[in-house]
Amino acid sequence: MPIPDPRPVRAFLDSAHEKFASDAAAFAARDLAPREAPDTDDAARQEARSILSALGQGGWLGPIGRQDWRGVCLVREAVAAQSPLADAVVALQGLATLPILFAGSDAQKKRWAEEAVSGRAMGGFAMTETEAGSDVAAIATRAAKDGDAYVLTGRKSYISNAGIADFYVVFASTDPAAGGKGISAFLVPADTRGLRLSAQVLSAPHPLVEVVFEECRISRENRLGDEGRGFALGLRTLDRMRATVGAAATGMAARALEEATVHAQHRKQFGKPLAEFQLIQEKLARMATELFAARLLVYRAAWEADRGQERVTLEAAMAKSYATEAAQRIIDDAVQILGARGVMASHPVDRLYRAVRALRIYEGTTEIQRLVIAGQLLRDHASG
Ligand SMILES: Cc1cc2nc3c(=O)[nH]c(=O)nc-3n(C[C@H](O)[C@H](O)[C@H](O)COP(=O)(O)OP(=O)(O)OC[C@H]3O[C@@H](n4cnc5c(N)ncnc54)[C@H](O)[C@@H]3O)c2cc1C
Repeated sequence: MPIPDPRPVRAFLDSAHEKFASDAAAFAARDLAPREAPDTDDAARQEARSILSALGQGGWLGPIGRQDWRGVCLVREAVAAQSPLADAVVALQGLATLPILFAGSDAQKKRWAEEAVSGRAMGGFAMTETEAGSDVAAIATRAAKDGDAYVLTGRKSYISNAGIADFYVVFASTDPAAGGKGISAFLVPADTRGLRLSAQVLSAPHPLVEVVFEECRISRENRLGDEGRGFALGLRTLDRMRATVGAAATGMAARALEEATVHAQHRKQFGKPLAEFQLIQEKLARMATELFAARLLVYRAAWEADRGQERVTLEAAMAKSYATEAAQRIIDDAVQILGARGVMASHPVDRLYRAVRALRIYEGTTEIQRLVIAGQLLRDHASG
C-alpha cells in the first residue's frame, strides 16, 4: 500500500487522482527515499536543485501549473513522507509560481512560471522581515518609483531557497503611509544588480538566507499586478498553499505511523511484541485517528478550491493548523514507540521530528490560523 494510503480520503478524489497518488508515492519511494539527507548547508543547496530537476522531469510540479489543489496535496503528502527537503522544494515552487500565475503577464508566465513548473527555474518567496513576521502589513522594504523603474531597498529574513533560486517574488511597500494597502509584489531575477545574500543558516531540512536589496533597480514590467495589491496577492497565494502545508504534515505523520506500527509489531519486550501492550495500542489508535481527521480537513479544503471556490481561507486555516499540530503529536508518539532508535539522527522518524516543527510556523503560525477561524466564526455569528 502506498504511503500515504489514498483510500481514507477517496470521497474527495476522483479515479485519476487515486492513480496519481499511487504513482507519486512510487516515485517518492524510488527516487527520493534513497537520497542521503544532507547535513550541511552546501549539501542541502546542491541536493535541492537536483531534487527540483527530478520533480520537474517527472511532471510532479504539474499540478501547481494546472492549479489542481488535490494534486498538489497528493504530491506533497507522498514526497514529504520520504524527503522533507523535497517537500520544501515543492512548497517554494508553489509559493513563487502562484503570484505569477495569478497576476503575471503572459511573458512572465512563459519566462518564469512555465520554467518553474518544469523544474528548470527555482523560485523564492520573499515576504518576511525582522519586524514583519505574522504582521505582514509591517513590511518596511521600500520600492520607490524612479521614472519607469522601481528601486528596492530593504532586507528579507528566513528566505527559503535564497542563493539557489533563479527568481524571487518580493513584497515591498510602494506607499508606506498606506500600510498593507501600500504593498506591491515584484518579480526579481536573482542576478539583478543590488541583490545580495547575508547570513546563511540551515533549518532542518532546508537552507534559509537573509536577502538584502541595495538600491536594486527593477523595471515596471516586473511588478506583479497593480500597485498596492501585493498584500492581497500574497494572501491569495497563501490561501491556496496552506492546505498543502497540511498535506505535507500528514505525509510526514503517515510515514511516522507506518514506522511505529511496524516497529511495535517486531520489537519484543517482556516476552512479547510491543504491539500487544494496550498502552502502545492506545497510542497507535490515537495517531491513526488524528491522521485520518487531518487528512479529511486537508482534502476537503483542496476539493473546495478545485471546485472553484474563490477563497478557502477558513477551510485552509483549519486544515493547516489541525494537520500540522496533529502531525507533531503523531510523530512525537512515533519517537516514543521507537524508543532510543527514534532519536538517532540517522532514523527517518528523527528527521521527521525535526522537519515537522517548522510547518506550525511558516505560511502563518497556528495562532494566526486560529485567529482566522475564530474571526470567521464571530463574523458569522454577528451577521446571523
Ligand atoms: C523553515 C522556515 C522557512 C521559512 N521560509 C520563508 C520564506 O521562504 N519566505 C518568507 O517570506 N518567510 C519564510 N519564513 C518565515 C515565516 O513565514 C515566519 O517565521 C512566520 O510568518 C512567523 O513570523 P515570525 O517568525 O517573525 O514570528 P512572530 O510573528 O514574531 O510570532 C512569534 C509568536 O507569536 C505569535 N503571535 C504573533 N502574533 C500574534 C497574535 N496576534 N496573537 C497571538 N499570537 C501571535 C505567533 O503565532 C508565534 O507563536 C520561514 C520560516 C521558517 C521557520
